[in-house]
Amino acid sequence: VTPTEFETVPAVRRDAAGAAGNVVVMKFGGTSVGEPALIRRVARRLVDARARGRDVVGVVSAMGHTTDELLALAREIAPTPPARELDVLLSVGERISCALVAMAIHDLGVEAISLTGSQAGIVTDTVHTKARIVEVRASRIHEALRGGRIVLVAGFQGVSTHTKDITTLGRGGSDITAVALAAALGAGECEINTDVDGVYTADPRLVAEARRLRSVSFEEMLELAAAGARVLQLRSVEFARNHGVRLHVRSTFGDEPGTWIVEEDERMLEQAMIAGVAHTVEEAVYRVDHAGAADLAGVLADAHVNVDTIMQTGSEIVFSAPLDDRPRTAEALERLGATWSEFDHLGKVSLVGAGMKSHPAIAARTFATVRELGLVPSFVSTTPIRIAFYVPKDEVERTVAALHDAFALGAAEPAPEPA
Ligand code: ADP
Ligand code: ASP
Ligand code: MG
Repeated sequence: VTPTEFETVPAVRRDAAGAAGNVVVMKFGGTSVGEPALIRRVARRLVDARARGRDVVGVVSAMGHTTDELLALAREIAPTPPARELDVLLSVGERISCALVAMAIHDLGVEAISLTGSQAGIVTDTVHTKARIVEVRASRIHEALRGGRIVLVAGFQGVSTHTKDITTLGRGGSDITAVALAAALGAGECEINTDVDGVYTADPRLVAEARRLRSVSFEEMLELAAAGARVLQLRSVEFARNHGVRLHVRSTFGDEPGTWIVEEDERMLEQAMIAGVAHTVEEAVYRVDHAGAADLAGVLADAHVNVDTIMQTGSEIVFSAPLDDRPRTAEALERLGATWSEFDHLGKVSLVGAGMKSHPAIAARTFATVRELGLVPSFVSTTPIRIAFYVPKDEVERTVAALHDAFALGAAEPAPEPA
């Protein structure tokens, strides 16, 4: 598995709750709470789940583009805002939507309480803007659930018990709030409610023929998330796998089942060789002269750069990292005294599937497809279940569509819904 960012296995205290598995954690993303009418709709869904007898914990993201707007506002005030203050600011977005959903639930005549990440017991390390959860102390949630209330938790944030400061969990971090709470509460399942009705064979906004997968294995989902399929935040998938959380990605707007993230043996029942094609144009590729880069990996880790692909060829090391991490990456490379260059005109395309292990011809077909587009893939890397390479950014869309087509990923799946 590529992801270099492994969630440590945090302590989760499971105090005596209600019947095991009766808790359901339901997370709603930014577009799902983007306006008042949608907030009322989310409230209704939470109340419906309560009416079905479940103990309901809702986790919400900031409304619409709030987080981006707060970031832009901060940068307008100061080009490099202190990370501590940035976290105080960014945590506000989720607090707003959380309180509003609680109000909407009250309006439906049902008891609800909103909690910040800190109040909900999400304890993190001290790394501002990309903190990791080290412990979940869910006693306050248990108490509210025992009192028959629906509990709303502001996603994407926690508190460092060391510095007593507010931290945030990295972009898309409400997913990990939901998964961590599901683990701590022994929830029957963790629902990720979003603006698409599941995990698709490619980003459905890019590929019209993309098909919803009924299930995908944790291993495949980790690779897809690391490769840019942002429907689930990478760390949330790692956390769910480490803690055996049942994850269900589904639509906020309908009642149909979405995609279950399952163990590999269950997934293999479906016998699809390839799970999907993922892409990202939000990475930069760095080429570093090997001579001066003795402790490159260590220095990047210390700078909290989320390195993805890292490759060593003759005299060079090549790696990729998120565009968001550009300033820290440049700073780390300067500190190292390395000779380096950056490519920011490339996009990464990845083909992911557990079936690759036993089908070596997949690589050949992948590169033949890319060649037919008149492209030369660069910085190719593979794992047993993934082939990734870079093409110019403006060729990414065409490449994803061509691979999706070449492997007939839009064709109907053979096996029935898993139980
Ligand atoms: P939320 O705000 O609910 O967290 P995100 O924007 O983070 O939602 O994630 C949902 C988006 O992920 C979809 O709108 C879709 O464009 C994108 N996406 C990328 N790859 C995939 C994929 N393979 N399957 C489904 N959605 C994908
Ligand atoms: N609001 C945060 C973000 O935009 C967290 C999330 O949406 O999950 O990244
Ligand atoms: Mg998201």
